[in-house]
Amino acid sequence: MARIRVGIVGYGNLGRGVETALALQEDMELVGVFTRRDPAAVQTLRPGTAVRAITDLETMPGEIDVLVLCGGSKSDLAEQTPQLAGRFTVVDSFDTHVRVPEHFARVDAAARAAGTTAIISTGWDPGLFSINRLFGEAILASGSTYTFWGRGLSQGHSDALRRIDGVAAAVQYTVPSEEAVDRVRAGERPQLSTREKHTRECFVVLEEGADADAVREAIVTMPHYFEPYDTTVTFLDAEELARDHRGMPHGGFVIRSGESSPGTRQTIEYRLQEDSNPEFTASVLVAYARAAVRLDAAGDHGAKTPFDVAPGLLSPKTPEQLRAELL
Ligand code: NDP
Repeated sequence: MARIRVGIVGYGNLGRGVETALALQEDMELVGVFTRRDPAAVQTLRPGTAVRAITDLETMPGEIDVLVLCGGSKSDLAEQTPQLAGRFTVVDSFDTHVRVPEHFARVDAAARAAGTTAIISTGWDPGLFSINRLFGEAILASGSTYTFWGRGLSQGHSDALRRIDGVAAAVQYTVPSEEAVDRVRAGERPQLSTREKHTRECFVVLEEGADADAVREAIVTMPHYFEPYDTTVTFLDAEELARDHRGMPHGGFVIRSGESSPGTRQTIEYRLQEDSNPEFTASVLVAYARAAVRLDAAGDHGAKTPFDVAPGLLSPKTPEQLRAELL
């Protein structure tokens, strides 16, 4: 059977992750990376990967089965996904939760008009965690749903630290409160405040001559980002930061705790532990790229979210194999 031809749009952390993930998929092949930058300036992880200008896509619809969109949610995907869905079957990882309905509507209009399929908001959250929140609510009608993130590196919070005067470099980890997780697992169904669910750990390299106390105060009082949490700040030097904080780990839990009859407790827990957030997210995108191609081939066009995609479509195995091996 012909392999699925995949293009990567945008080559940052996620784009590199998709390149890596595709190398493990026997039924898929990478056509190339498409970037807004000068292709000659983009160094790929794998030596054989072709890098082309994003404008080259205009003449390539017949050469690509699906585009995996790896731009940022904040400014790239809101524009790129509807635009490219007008010519290609696509998947994205749009993760601005409150703007998903608006993004869906714009992508849906473009994809329906063009007869393409676009699966948006794949990844792990939104994505796999969303599906597990849905399972929990659908199965345990009486209950509470909890999402804990971490221990993981938060890109947004790390960026916020780096914008503070006196900070040369920094990373931030989001850490779930063990006590809160234990109470949820025990079936207590507690009402948890923001402060009770997660703590934040900051590792900061100061600029020369910077006042450590002033930087610490600026961090722990920063509204929205750190003030609502118990935040610890550890100062270290640039070598220690480079040595001990190189990876981009993440993960978390979705827990549904409920009762099927009075006093009969039922708990569903789904956990992810990622050494690399972008490589894991990319692996999810690649599985959804396969599903998007199958939906497109079946004439099922328009925008979809992970809620709309049957799990069997993610697998390289046939429905017959899946029934024999996994049921
Ligand atoms: P990056 O900032 O690494 O990359 C975003 C875009 O910026 C790239 O597509 C690339 O576009 C451009 N870019 C990358 N590196 C450079 C550079 N050196 N100079 C100039 N431009 C550059 O973002 P990530 O890959 O880490 O994340 C992408 C998105 O993934 C996030 O915004 C988030 O929305 C989503 N995500 C979703 C998750 C989920 O579970 N749903 C989990 C994790 C992330 P170009 O090549 O065109 O220049």
